[in-house]
Amino acid sequence: MKYQRSSALFVEAQKVIPGGVNSPVRAFKAVGGDPIFVEKAQGAYLYDVDGNKLIDYINSWGPMILGHAYAPVVNAVVEKAKKGTSFGMPTKIETDIAELAVSMVPNIDKIRFVNSGTEACMSAVRLARGFTGKDKIIKFAGCYHGHSDSFLIQAGSGAVTFGTPNSPGVTEGTAKDTLLATYNDLDNVAQLISANQNEIACIIIEPVAGNMGCIPPTTGFLEGLRELCDKNNILLIFDEVMTGFRLAPGGAQELFGVKADIVTFGKVIGGGLPVGAFAARSEIMDYLAPIGPVYQAGTLSGNPLAMAAGLAMLNELNKNRNIFESINKKTEYLHNGLDRVLSAENVKFTINRIGSMISVHFSENKVVDFNSAAEGNNDNFKKFFHGMLDEGIYIAPSAFETWFLCDALTYEDLDQTIEACAKVAKKLK
Ligand code: PMP
Repeated sequence: MKYQRSSALFVEAQKVIPGGVNSPVRAFKAVGGDPIFVEKAQGAYLYDVDGNKLIDYINSWGPMILGHAYAPVVNAVVEKAKKGTSFGMPTKIETDIAELAVSMVPNIDKIRFVNSGTEACMSAVRLARGFTGKDKIIKFAGCYHGHSDSFLIQAGSGAVTFGTPNSPGVTEGTAKDTLLATYNDLDNVAQLISANQNEIACIIIEPVAGNMGCIPPTTGFLEGLRELCDKNNILLIFDEVMTGFRLAPGGAQELFGVKADIVTFGKVIGGGLPVGAFAARSEIMDYLAPIGPVYQAGTLSGNPLAMAAGLAMLNELNKNRNIFESINKKTEYLHNGLDRVLSAENVKFTINRIGSMISVHFSENKVVDFNSAAEGNNDNFKKFFHGMLDEGIYIAPSAFETWFLCDALTYEDLDQTIEACAKVAKKLK
């Protein structure tokens, strides 16, 4: 594969955009080399500006669960755009998508739409603090909830990839209200709670961590958090930005049968347009302005194009629920294939998978939290990434990310990916 045009565009971009990108992980810093500039995408494939075709395992970091340029979503956006792109006034489609989301997700009565996952999580925490009258929050090392100040404390994803899990610019005052816990370690959470009695407003967690590679919760972990929250008058926030409308129609709450107090969404709920949302039972949501005291707002929130894309996406997932089983089976097939070819070359690896989220860690130990995720062999990861890319397979350009499959992938695509991995595995230690 040749990438001259991408590299030339990257040179130009760096003159006017910091690092040449509008979100850090895109820059390929963790794996080396220049990022690929995309021209267009269709179904499971990306087409770059040099004319290369790649099988896509990122899918815009999750939103494109049905593949790129999915016709019902594209048509809905185009039709809406003809009627105007933003009004700053209520529109019916906002109620339509809210009704559908509330009907698909357990334990929520009301939902508010924002423009990103970051905004959703930031607003959810403010709401939890306002509702409980307490200031501190618990988050887990290696979890990422967007780039708002309270979350850039041992954050995962790009923050850890670039060695700034605690970003300069976040004040000590803000940082001291974020308590850090170890993922999958209930005792650790219980200790934090007892050391900060009556001070903790909420625990925010990715119910399946996807920002230190993919790390599912161990049996009983989410249930244990629920119990600790109930006993101590703490709200449990599930950050379902990745898992919502992906692991099941009702997300991780449905999959694990564990109830959250506030749920945040992004990615799939916007069908590929900039959308986030947060939701809870009425008692909590009615604490928001204009009827409650907690302020939260947005000029473009509930934007008609974004709502049209999201509604078309949720409609597809709602009426065609076997999509979830289909995509999970494809991911299992990929998992088994990767496992087979990596084992054949005696590579030290662990594959974590749940539903259509999967990641390969180059470590033979179980990967259950941030420390075990960080043990992976990064040289192998870099070789793996570039080897797969040379074979036309686009995976996340960092070991601290999850791959997201789309249902547009065919079994031939998966076989091609497994064959590519078999070749690349020969070059790994
Ligand atoms: N929460 C989680 C779990 C995420 O994975 C992300 C982004 N990958 C966010 C929040 C932030 O979402 P956004 O990038 O849309 O602001």
